[in-house]
Amino acid sequence: MDLREFLLARIAEDEARARTAAEDGTTCTGGWPPQRLLVECETRRELLRLDLDQAVCEDADRGCGHSGTDIEQGRCERQSADDRPLLRALALPWSTHPQHRDAWLP
Ligand SMILES: [Zn+2]
Repeated sequence: MDLREFLLARIAEDEARARTAAEDGTTCTGGWPPQRLLVECETRRELLRLDLDQAVCEDADRGCGHSGTDIEQGRCERQSADDRPLLRALALPWSTHPQHRDAWLP
């Protein structure tokens, strides 16, 4: 599991929690209202998309030229999600998660 996959899994968990809380009429973990957490999840996914766009541009500038799908699926040796500063920052809230790696700390 790379850092992008780790983040997408945590976002999906938060989103599921928010949807359940919205249906039950309860509040989510962390005290965030469900709608607020759903917006947060979409924001995080958008940041992941923007970071991937940036990775594609950087790859092209280096003359490598892999697509976003190639980079996402680990087919470019020059681009690793684990080395992306934005992704490392986004993962900080889950730094104590059992699947989080110390190497991902910013
Ligand atoms: Zn490449």
